[in-house]
Amino acid sequence: MRATCCGRHLSGAERISRVEDIPALTAALTERAMSHSARIPDEVHCTVERLDASEILHAELPDITTWDVPAWQAGRELAGRLLKNAGVAAHVVSRSLACLAEGPAPDGGVMRGAMVVDRLSGERLEPDNRRGVRVSRMDVAPDERVALRNLLDKVGLGHHRVLEALVLAGKVLKAPGIVAELCWSDAPDYVTGYVASPIEGYQRITRLKETGDPMGGRIFFIDRRNWDRDEFIAFLEQRGVLFHGKPGINPTRTWRV
Ligand code: AMP
Repeated sequence: MRATCCGRHLSGAERISRVEDIPALTAALTERAMSHSARIPDEVHCTVERLDASEILHAELPDITTWDVPAWQAGRELAGRLLKNAGVAAHVVSRSLACLAEGPAPDGGVMRGAMVVDRLSGERLEPDNRRGVRVSRMDVAPDERVALRNLLDKVGLGHHRVLEALVLAGKVLKAPGIVAELCWSDAPDYVTGYVASPIEGYQRITRLKETGDPMGGRIFFIDRRNWDRDEFIAFLEQRGVLFHGKPGINPTRTWRV
């Protein structure tokens, strides 16, 4: 589901379901589009596509760590450290953080999808700098969604954005050549973001921007050795991925500059 207002993205969601559940799911997502944000959308698109069950990749969700930071500046510094630990060059880290903060689209606005950035040179590799790469066709296995939501609720991570970002990051971390992902939302009131990497998992950072800031985005950092852009994008946009089991939840950590 994808909802827009005046050409701007308002909300979206990705689900994989059994055929018999599609009518109720479509209704629930349309309802969510209408009530989700302060603005009423002027377009809501619900697209239903058939997936071949035998081609779905079954995977586990990454472990979750929450870093508590006192302010967004400290959050960005921590994000930089985590990205460097994952193998992103220092000059690429600082340029990338600045790019998300300033607006990564050519007109200085937000993108619909993610930037793809070479971890060593910082070169942007997504074919379209306005749209970016849109990750699609991923979900928690239908029978396991309730248990996962209950688990996240129990540890104070019940916000729907946590589950959705975890699933998206989980798929990104399975993409060939990925070394890390950086994300913070463009929603002005949602300041938590994350760095994800194959080794450290999904690392939430409680503040990555100032409340009220409408900028945000995603960056996928890749290692270009033996990397094929078409294969990478086809995986993210087209391959069905279903997640099973419960992610490990690490104790909250505190970061002070
Ligand atoms: P959100 O967390 O939904 O506020 O999204 C934050 C940013 O991530 C957006 O501004 C987009 O640039 C990007 N984004 C959102 N959804 C996707 C997606 N499905 N695939 C890739 N990038 C996305």
